[in-house]
Amino acid sequence: MKLEEYQGVWVFIEQNDRVIEGVSLELLGAGRKLADKLNVSLAGVLLGEGIKPLASEVITGGADEVYVIDHPVLKDYRTESYMKCIMLLAEKYKPEIFLYGATPNGKDLASAVATDLNTGLTADTTMLDVDVDNRLLEASRPAFGGNIMATILCKKHRPQMATVRPKVMKALEPDTARAGKIIEETISLAEEDMRTKVFQIVKDVTKKASLAEAHVIVCGGKGMGDLQNFGLLYELAETIGASVGGTRDVVEAGWLPHHLQIGQTGETVTPKIYFAVAVSGAIQHVVGMKNSEIIIAINKDPNAPIFDVATYGIVGDAMEIIPKLIEEFKQVPINQGGEISYA
Ligand SMILES: Cc1cc2nc3c(=O)[nH]c(=O)nc-3n(C[C@H](O)[C@H](O)[C@H](O)COP(=O)(O)OP(=O)(O)OC[C@H]3O[C@@H](n4cnc5c(N)ncnc54)[C@H](O)[C@@H]3O)c2cc1C
Repeated sequence: MKLEEYQGVWVFIEQNDRVIEGVSLELLGAGRKLADKLNVSLAGVLLGEGIKPLASEVITGGADEVYVIDHPVLKDYRTESYMKCIMLLAEKYKPEIFLYGATPNGKDLASAVATDLNTGLTADTTMLDVDVDNRLLEASRPAFGGNIMATILCKKHRPQMATVRPKVMKALEPDTARAGKIIEETISLAEEDMRTKVFQIVKDVTKKASLAEAHVIVCGGKGMGDLQNFGLLYELAETIGASVGGTRDVVEAGWLPHHLQIGQTGETVTPKIYFAVAVSGAIQHVVGMKNSEIIIAINKDPNAPIFDVATYGIVGDAMEIIPKLIEEFKQVPINQGGEISYA
């Protein structure tokens, strides 16, 4: 394999019902930085049916080029048909880096493609960088039970591939003045040749509103002591229009269901304001919330690691501080007429 033949950074643009997934736009933001450092172009790969109009969104999101394959067989995601398209494009144009969202479809596709291209894949990456001199992607992720961050390199094969967790990277502000190239490719696919058929896609409507969408989160830790004390956090959340989440220890104690756990093995969140109350700030927790815009930590231990990522820190007993905050927030005039705006 001649590594020098491979050039450019690619992002798989995942779309569902012709709406681009947020993680794909986040990857264009991250990919832009990598491409600029390597002095190469950034391309999006857009597959589906009736998806050509989305190509301009990929360009305004940061891409220089968009490879588009628009075909009726690509209407719904299937490993076989999507993999065929990616193989065609990757073998023809030879990207050096190829990023996918760590969504169910992104993970499925990336692993199938990595196997067929005989290259490496780093799964569930939370940090990306490049070693420019050696043109190596540095894909970092928690490893060994989350006790260390491992940086994984793919030295001998191309493309260097990674799946990246949603909500970890930042999308760019859409730039409508950006110009880019749309490259349409054709592929011969026949529905009757497909080994899997999609009869129906059933949307999960039972899931509660996702923490990932919340603007303000009050996260409680084990230091709240017991379920009754934890109830204080609901009162605070209700006062300021926030959602409640917790650490893994809180979930294990049975104070919250698992879908409200934040961190490496729970949700990744990026609210505008994140209250971390009686949370120690273990690395496995921090990877899931460190990109929040404002982090307010309340902890009685001044040396708690959560203060290392906090924007504001309050050292003290949460049982005294939270009732005072609730009292104060209730006095905020804008809250008396309805909702506080966090826009
Ligand atoms: C593979 C793996 C995956 C993991 N995944 C996750 C994950 O997804 N999410 C996650 O959260 N954790 C995860 N963990 C667990 C993580 O390592 C920590 O154990 C956990 O985050 C600690 O939770 P905590 O901060 O609630 O509790 P503790 O670490 O016990 O911290 C309690 C904090 O409360 C403070 N405190 C105590 N009383 C008060 C008071 N009255 N007022 C103010 N502060 C007080 C203490 O000073 C302390 O800092 C994972 C661990 C592993 C090994």
